[in-house]
Amino acid sequence: MSAVPGRSCGSCNMCCKILTIEELKKDAGPLCSNWCSPVGCAIYAARPQVCRDFECDWLTERDIPVALKPDRVGTILMTDPDSEQYQAVCDPKRPNDWRKPQVFKHLIAKAKSGEFVVAKAGALSWRVYETGETAPWS
Ligand code: SF4
Ligand code: SF4
Repeated sequence: MSAVPGRSCGSCNMCCKILTIEELKKDAGPLCSNWCSPVGCAIYAARPQVCRDFECDWLTERDIPVALKPDRVGTILMTDPDSEQYQAVCDPKRPNDWRKPQVFKHLIAKAKSGEFVVAKAGALSWRVYETGETAPWS
């Protein structure tokens, strides 16, 4: 998948911070030890395949508003390749960022379109239903 024209990661490093990356033995929350500001990934040419392959949905999906860039809303929107859940992944230290109105509105729209929507923050997760109801999810 390629980036929507006009969109790029820029200074965002949310996926290097809030995702669990087993290949790097990295938990959700702390910024990857290979991140070096202001350069970015210090091992870019040798970064693991999982890092090469990852693109969040904001980057590749036109239907996601520009305003929902991960570093602006504290939430990565992505389809989990294992579960096929539509996920809103947040920093464990800011576990309610997915409840921000503009993010929540998008999640409800996704649920209404038939997606199985789950918000996550570290070990916590919630199902988001098309009615706007939410409930803890495991
Ligand atoms: S979260 Fe998305 S926009 Fe941000 S760095 Fe990762 S792929 Fe790029
Ligand atoms: S290795 Fe590089 S691209 Fe991968 S998470 Fe760490 S800083 Fe990000």
